[in-house]
Amino acid sequence: CGVFGVIGVADAANFVALGMHALQHRGQEAGGIIVHDTEKGFNSAHRFGYVRDNFTKASLMETLPGSLSIGHVRYSTAGSKAAVIRDVQPFFGEFSMGGAAIAHNGNLTNADQLRRELIEHGAIFQSSSDSECIIHLMARSFQKSHADRIADALRRVEGAFSVVAMTRTKLIGVRDPLGVRPLVLGRLGDNGYVLSSETCGLDIIGAEFVREIEPGEMVVIQDGKIQSSRPFGETGSRFCIFEHVYFSRPDSIIGGRSVYETRLQIGVELAREAPVEADLVCPVPDSGTPAAIGFSQESGIPFALGITRNQYMGRTFIEPTEHIRNMGVRLKLNVNKALIKGKRVILVDDSVVRGTTSRKIKEMILDAGAAEVHFRIASPPTAWPCFYGVDTPDREKLLAARMTEDEMRDWVGVDSLKFISLDGLYRAAGAAQGRNNACPQYCDACFSGEYPVAPSDQLAKGFEM
Ligand code: 5GP
Ligand code: SF4
Ligand code: MG
Repeated sequence: CGVFGVIGVADAANFVALGMHALQHRGQEAGGIIVHDTEKGFNSAHRFGYVRDNFTKASLMETLPGSLSIGHVRYSTAGSKAAVIRDVQPFFGEFSMGGAAIAHNGNLTNADQLRRELIEHGAIFQSSSDSECIIHLMARSFQKSHADRIADALRRVEGAFSVVAMTRTKLIGVRDPLGVRPLVLGRLGDNGYVLSSETCGLDIIGAEFVREIEPGEMVVIQDGKIQSSRPFGETGSRFCIFEHVYFSRPDSIIGGRSVYETRLQIGVELAREAPVEADLVCPVPDSGTPAAIGFSQESGIPFALGITRNQYMGRTFIEPTEHIRNMGVRLKLNVNKALIKGKRVILVDDSVVRGTTSRKIKEMILDAGAAEVHFRIASPPTAWPCFYGVDTPDREKLLAARMTEDEMRDWVGVDSLKFISLDGLYRAAGAAQGRNNACPQYCDACFSGEYPVAPSDQLAKGFEM
């Protein structure tokens, strides 16, 4: 998901809509905006579909006046996969000290237990979302300010959260103790501040990047002033390495590093680790493109656009059902036959999850008359599910959980299939010495099976680490 918030500018909702549009790659199912205006109070709109199809309509934006606003773009990782508008954030609650709204990116790993406990104590849930627990936990806190109640609530939850919240007068941002999901702070105009999942959300509205919210940090912004605190005490840092590989936009800056540069370097590392003789290096668009450029640069094999993507389709993986996902590859991608015929082709993609994409693309490339097909994958084998906000399927459905690299090569049906090593990925992401196995710099649980936060709901359901 993507979260965004603005304080201290007229018509804040317009900026929030633009920020959400820039974060649309983080969630395409639905979006929501909440605003507060000193005269008109709180107002909100929650809609299915793209931001540009909903939140640019003057008639809708006129219902969202105010100088303080937050928004959320949704990608369902927890809660119902069916389209239910009640699951669309931000969520709002009335408290003794006034209303407050929250938008959450990430996944809470103890939400089932919390929900059960809260319902037993009288909470009435509106949605199937894990994030709603935060509102109910706030309601049960005895703290006097919203911010303290949010801190209380977040001390009870486990897992990954980047939260953007608002009250009548404050914009609040918090990152979980390990900072698994991103969140950045920007400045807008003389008095305005912005919180965004990624820096590309600042760029679109001309906001100036100030800094990242740190892992375990809470910021409370009011009247042009920022108060920072550490509600969880001293914490470490385990940012999601898959944000660098796939999830974030390539024009975003994370941890002082360009996502594009990291992806390019992944291609360079891959070309060193798994070289192969071939005529062309082709990306699987769009997510494989920067790595393919790096692979081509390092290997000297020409880069070519052998596969064209239909620009009017969304990301296949984000479509929530298996059926749509299966259709997706052909609806979205087509091979340039004139270019591919008779060639030995290296295809670079960001990841293999179920293997559906790779297998379909191999078919299309062979149909087009390729002489050889070699897959190079910009992440290590995805052998474990993510419980922190990326929608990976159950372990049994992950190709790499069931097969060795050679078995995957044969199952996909290509001449070779190689993944970048975990160390190679760390080097590409800026860790010169590779992964520090005693104390890894990133979360890489989907590749290593080392979960930095125990997924307690899953363990209770029988998941074995
Ligand atoms: P598969 O077809 O192997 O199940 O999925 C791999 C494809 O899904 C890749 O082309 C990758 O770009 C795409 N993808 C889209 N969203 C995600 C995501 O959230 N996680 C992963 N691992 N891959 C994704
Ligand atoms: Fe990111 Fe993988 Fe960790 Fe999930 S398990 S947070 S996708 S690195
Ligand atoms: Mg892809």
